Amino acid sequence: MTNPLDMDLELSDEEMHLYSRQILLDGWDIEAQEKLKLANVLIVGCGGIGCTTAELLARAGVGQITLIDADTIEMSNLQRQIAYVEENIGFYKAEILAKRLQQINPHIRVESQTVKLDESNAEALISAQDLVLDGCDNFTTRYLVNQTCKQFNVPLISASAIGFQGQLFMVEGESACYECLFPKEQHANENLRCADSGVLATTPNVMASLQAHHALLYLGLGKTPLKQKLMLWDGLSMKQRLLAFEKDTDCPICQAR
Ligand SMILES: [Zn+2]
Repeated sequence: MTNPLDMDLELSDEEMHLYSRQILLDGWDIEAQEKLKLANVLIVGCGGIGCTTAELLARAGVGQITLIDADTIEMSNLQRQIAYVEENIGFYKAEILAKRLQQINPHIRVESQTVKLDESNAEALISAQDLVLDGCDNFTTRYLVNQTCKQFNVPLISASAIGFQGQLFMVEGESACYECLFPKEQHANENLRCADSGVLATTPNVMASLQAHHALLYLGLGKTPLKQKLMLWDGLSMKQRLLAFEKDTDCPICQAR
């Protein structure tokens, strides 16, 4: 984990107070809390998933959060994207969300990027992170995030939600990757957008909470329960399944490593 020189390593009295309910936990201690403080996390997409994931990580005490999203807030976002209110319509999602996180927790650093994550900035944005959390709304970005995380050995927790369904999994180290699970030729031209398929207000927030929870387990305790496992959550039956998936021997991303 990297540590900016001008940031205090140890938790202040105020931070100890702020995070006291976590530090009290059996199985979570000051050391775990300090690991959160030192962590650099990139959140890709500030929509229904990114809003909630970012807020939970900010409250929990993740020290450096970078947000990227090129979109501005629209009326139809307010139904599920919990960081935004009507007067934010027309403003950049990443900027409004960053401001909110900073209001919630002034002890962390938040950076916002109001551009699309693409070939030109992926390496600079991803290579120095301790963890990337993907909650974007299209396959092109998902494949690029996966590829760049694999290339620079940055762990990735990917969450998605559409309609009543959600998915979550982790790519870490030598594990199988997103492209092993969803070969590109099957999805490259599809768009996974709530604008086309609809989404219940709660679905992305359920998946975001699970994504943020997994992120805390990983950053604080080094746990990887969903590494190479796909969690499927069905919002109608409220059943959840865990499917183990294997490395695809033909996966171009894993072969390139
Ligand atoms: Zn792969």
